[in-house]
Amino acid sequence: MIYDIIIIGGGPAGAAAGVYSARKKLKTLVIADSFGGQSLVSDSIENWIGVKKMTGLELAKMLEGHIRAYEDAEIKMPEKAVLVKEISSGWEISTDKNNIYQSKALIVASGGRRRHLNVLGEDKFEGKGVSYCSTCDAPVFKNKPVAVIGGGDAGLEAVINLVPYASKIYLISNKELLTGDVSTQEEIKKSDKVSVIMNADIQEILGDKFVSGLKYLDKNDNQIKELKIEGIFVEIGSVPNSEFVKDLVGTNQKGEIVIDHKTGATSRPGIFAAGDVTDEIYKQNNISAGDAVAAALSAYNYLLNIKKNENKNSN
Ligand SMILES: Cc1cc2nc3c(=O)[nH]c(=O)nc-3n(C[C@H](O)[C@H](O)[C@H](O)COP(=O)(O)OP(=O)(O)OC[C@H]3O[C@@H](n4cnc5c(N)ncnc54)[C@H](O)[C@@H]3O)c2cc1C
Repeated sequence: MIYDIIIIGGGPAGAAAGVYSARKKLKTLVIADSFGGQSLVSDSIENWIGVKKMTGLELAKMLEGHIRAYEDAEIKMPEKAVLVKEISSGWEISTDKNNIYQSKALIVASGGRRRHLNVLGEDKFEGKGVSYCSTCDAPVFKNKPVAVIGGGDAGLEAVINLVPYASKIYLISNKELLTGDVSTQEEIKKSDKVSVIMNADIQEILGDKFVSGLKYLDKNDNQIKELKIEGIFVEIGSVPNSEFVKDLVGTNQKGEIVIDHKTGATSRPGIFAAGDVTDEIYKQNNISAGDAVAAALSAYNYLLNIKKNENKNSN
């Protein structure tokens, strides 16, 4: 069987594309590793339009429930797309469950994942002091010294999350200036628990069974220095989940899929993309959902055109 549209991803973008495709009565398949997207771990989402405040889990349930309300949309979850190939009728998607699905049009809504430091000790101590989610793990570090790596919005937010718990917080950036929200910078500098270390490259995460410290290169004096800490929060941005289509569509230097921002069209006719996996500047839930609506409507028009051409040729 060939689906009209396959959507890869179960975040706000995947869910929005799924709902719009199903409402157009297109035979739709959503392949999702999980539902809810990156803010699943958040305790408090306060800017999903129409809802004052909810948890990431509540958002995930709403998104999944909305797609499941439509008979024309099927969901395969948990299942991960590993490769997309072009076939004469459209696209063939292979998954980690060794399944193969085919569709006439494809919407890539696979979002992003947290960027890693890629230093010695990081993998070894993940979950043993190294964390990528301050909202989830801040309470674990009650009365313990920690470091937050990254001077952007995510790093500053992590510091805010940690102030009520940690005994000491080192905010470390490899740049000369913090780049995150200025009022949040002022807020964190008011806390006497917070020390800011600029111009520092993390070299190694130290420990035995759990994290006990880190080594960094102080680029101000070119000296390797050590800090005694028990937790490290890595907040240095995200990486797009675009590997499985990278040979088919145009991507930028960051690996983000380059799209036409009016239609969600990629460089390959029949493949559309939306949300954090694309070169959209603002990575936000509402924007991912809105972009995916545009992508779904464009995919619908693409399918209509295919049908029109088929009818023309058969007459
Ligand atoms: C901790 C945190 C808190 C945040 N809080 C907010 C907030 O309060 N408000 C806000 O607007 N934004 C917030 N954001 C940003 C927001 O979460 C993202 O902009 C949004 O989730 C992007 O949606 P998306 O659907 O494009 O991608 P994602 O949310 O990344 O969803 C991608 C989906 O695709 C699935 N997937 C990935 N690869 C594959 C594959 N190969 N095959 C199948 N499925 C795959 C994933 O499992 C996931 O379901 C937050 C982000 C984080 C990390």
